[in-house]
Amino acid sequence: MKPYSNLYIDGAWVTPASDHKLCVINPADELIAAEVPAGNATDVDRAVEAASKAFVSWSHTASTERRRFILAIADGMRARRDDLLAAISDTMGCPRHIAKWLQVDDPIEGFALFANHAAIADQTEEAGTSIVMREPVGVCAFINPWNFPLHQLIGKVGAALAAGCTMVVKPSEQTPVQDFIVAEIMHDVGLPPGVFNLVTGTGDEVGSALCTHSLVDMVSFTGSTRAGIKVAIAAAPTVKRVAQELGGKSPFIITEHANLLPAVKYGVEDVMFNSGQTCTALSRMLVPQNKYKQAVAIARELAEGMIVGMGDDAFLGAMSSAAQQKRVLEYIRLGVEEGATLVCGGTDQPAGIGKGFFVAPTIFADVHNNMRIAQEEIFGPVLCMIPYDELDDAIAIANDTPYGLSSAVFAETESEAISIAHRIRAGQCYINGGQFNFLAPFGGYKQSGNGREFSAEGAHEFLEVKAIQRP
Ligand code: NAD
Repeated sequence: MKPYSNLYIDGAWVTPASDHKLCVINPADELIAAEVPAGNATDVDRAVEAASKAFVSWSHTASTERRRFILAIADGMRARRDDLLAAISDTMGCPRHIAKWLQVDDPIEGFALFANHAAIADQTEEAGTSIVMREPVGVCAFINPWNFPLHQLIGKVGAALAAGCTMVVKPSEQTPVQDFIVAEIMHDVGLPPGVFNLVTGTGDEVGSALCTHSLVDMVSFTGSTRAGIKVAIAAAPTVKRVAQELGGKSPFIITEHANLLPAVKYGVEDVMFNSGQTCTALSRMLVPQNKYKQAVAIARELAEGMIVGMGDDAFLGAMSSAAQQKRVLEYIRLGVEEGATLVCGGTDQPAGIGKGFFVAPTIFADVHNNMRIAQEEIFGPVLCMIPYDELDDAIAIANDTPYGLSSAVFAETESEAISIAHRIRAGQCYINGGQFNFLAPFGGYKQSGNGREFSAEGAHEFLEVKAIQRP
């Protein structure tokens, strides 16, 4: 992979303030995948000042111009698909055949949709004698995790460009490379200097400096609830707008008369997908008592049939890092200690795997919702299967965690599923096999966050509202 030694600030590749580097290890083979600058507060100052200067003119560009840039950047990403694919697959350990559509093609098309929102700040409303206008919020700081690195980047960048904001982006230490490719694309399409700036580095150094900088108007953060709270506290003294997309412990209710086999298959695939490193993972499967044994047997057969590795037949790749693998294995040990039944998987290296930070698809049965494995986000391929008596009990269990990011219901009919969805406190509910949709708003309730990404709601997050008061 091409080495990156400079940061992208004010439309140019500039030498970082220090010569410290971040070394990225490929979690599938444990070799060095990339080296990028470890930026610091001086680099953040420079980038934020460039974004602040650029905001003056960028915020007043015609919406047709912003639309043109979004479409040109999308074309640029399409042309660099192979580079994006290598960057993401090699730094997060996602098999190429999955990363191609999940981590590259889908996010690019999701980004292009923001062209439809480029006129969002043009709309005005009459309110009595007043005119209500919308204006871009200002300089934005974007802090992202590693599990869907391009998807998370474009959800913020696309909305901000559409709204007329300027930005400084900080990718995760584990997956910085796609952000460099996107910066090259921004440069190639001639985006005005300072609209998009990239400073790589750690959360403690670059992330904190962004959250406290007096010229940053908004922080949009995706990551753990733990770090999201720190971000909000750091941003409070300068009264920034803070959008948080945080963790989850999402429930999946299978009802009494749902078709059990497709329901369990949907749930098992969902939680093992991206090796369980999905914020919306349906990590708690709630099954009626009288179907429970059968559901566990189906789940076990499905999980045991899933191939782990980096080949074209693999369903699960690596954990993103040694630290992530360790954390997941500790939760598996904890589940056993807490008295849950280990149905399959566990702490042994999956069959046929030599090097790399892999975890076998793991299922726990006889889980009580008050166990830590049912309450805390594991962020790995670990499913907790929980029996319930009545539907009301299932809904109470579903809502009984601090999180509220996602949820799912498999019921006999759509109307039954929707009525259950209404009773679950979460930002989305996938019913009867529903799939992620870039046209719908995405975000959490409770400690899963307070922002929305994608769709018109996602673009609205980047707007201020002004009232023009007429006589
Ligand atoms: P993380 O919270 O450790 O790190 C996320 C980002 O925050 C990184 O760029 C990191 O450098 C930065 N950071 C860490 N501490 C910081 C601080 N004090 N100030 C500023 N920045 C700081 O999360 P992770 O391990 O990279 O990602 C996994 C987490 O992300 C999971 O909890 C997952 O649920 C969550 N996530 C949420 C969504 C969503 O949309 N709700 C999507 C994907 C991932």
